[in-house]
Amino acid sequence: MQRRSVFAAIIAILVLAGLGYSGWHYVRQRDAQSCKACARPVHSHMKTVAIVDGKRMIFCCPACALSVRQQSGKQVQVVELTDYLNDVPVKPESSFVVRNSDINPCLDHHPAVGEGGQPLESHFDRCSPSVLSFRDRNSAAAFSSEHGGQMAKFSEFASEFQR
Ligand SMILES: [Zn+2]
Repeated sequence: MQRRSVFAAIIAILVLAGLGYSGWHYVRQRDAQSCKACARPVHSHMKTVAIVDGKRMIFCCPACALSVRQQSGKQVQVVELTDYLNDVPVKPESSFVVRNSDINPCLDHHPAVGEGGQPLESHFDRCSPSVLSFRDRNSAAAFSSEHGGQMAKFSEFASEFQR
């Protein structure tokens, strides 16, 4: 009888420890992986890093990062983009973007869907049209010829966005 209650206590401790760990893990994952602007999960091949008011923040796409400036007036400096095709970090100064192609990974994570399958708050979505980054003109052009959209230098895109 006593042995059985010791066994039950051990199981209870293990279960609690497991719950505690997964809760902590979940919070940590969410902090690391969600966009600071729209809270969507950040796709590794679209990760955008910007310095906002002196703090390093992660965004799901360049449009989200730049929208922070429009909406809050804070200084935003994009310091790192990710090449969509190769999933490697690239410097914004030398990058190209393709806007409005037929690929939009962010829309896989639409926050809410209303009755009849209509997305709620469809009047504004800063992740649409999509903005994908590429390490050079050639890869952006190749992608765009397959998936449509408009190609631009990131620096041009950024200055245009902030007007
Ligand atoms: Zn976002």
